[in-house]
Amino acid sequence: MQIAGYRTGPDDPALLLAADGSVERVSLEPSVELAYPLGERHCAGVIDDGTHYPCDREPAPYCDRHTHEWAPTYADEEHAIYLAAFAPAMFKVGITRSWRLDTRLREQGADRAAHIHTVSSGPIARGVEREIAAEIPEAVRVETKIEGLAATVDHDAWEALLEEHAPIETFEFDYGFALPERPVAERLATGIVLGTKGRILVLERAGTTYATDLRELVGYEIAAESTRDRQASLGAF
Ligand SMILES: [Zn+2]
Repeated sequence: MQIAGYRTGPDDPALLLAADGSVERVSLEPSVELAYPLGERHCAGVIDDGTHYPCDREPAPYCDRHTHEWAPTYADEEHAIYLAAFAPAMFKVGITRSWRLDTRLREQGADRAAHIHTVSSGPIARGVEREIAAEIPEAVRVETKIEGLAATVDHDAWEALLEEHAPIETFEFDYGFALPERPVAERLATGIVLGTKGRILVLERAGTTYATDLRELVGYEIAAESTRDRQASLGAF
């Protein structure tokens, strides 16, 4: 059994586990208990129409053959240009098709956001984004987002930024959990789910809170012991 992918929230965050060509969704809703000790890691292959095609090449999460370049340009679709805030004070600019704005912001785990321009196509949106990117970065690393998990957004810094950009609409997101202190960053798929924030999975295990980048789990084989236990418990039904 291999972790072959994941889905981010808000409605149905899940790990995708593949075994013998089939794919099972494991919910990452709060209070779900995970017990997937990580074994060897290799390319996660590809999931196509519900079937998993494994790959034993070494690069993970994907080898060259299975790396997808996500650079689509949607020439005819209306795009939104947005600013997103990650606690305590990391801000970024980004673009997305207008209808995906709310989803896109949640996928990234933004704490706050502002829709600042609407344009008629992807290429125009990229042009505007590049101009703004002279002052505000286009990406915030997941490690940085994890460092800010227990923090709150620097309200004054965010408001000052918004004053320069005259927002059309502003957003504030709540991911359903609050952490008293910064979790330990670790690759882990064992523990009780406290919640997800975009690609970040927050787990509690033996009284300690851990944060894992879901992408960092993709490609791991689940250690055999857990598979056997699991099959035994399924057999009990
Ligand atoms: Zn591969």
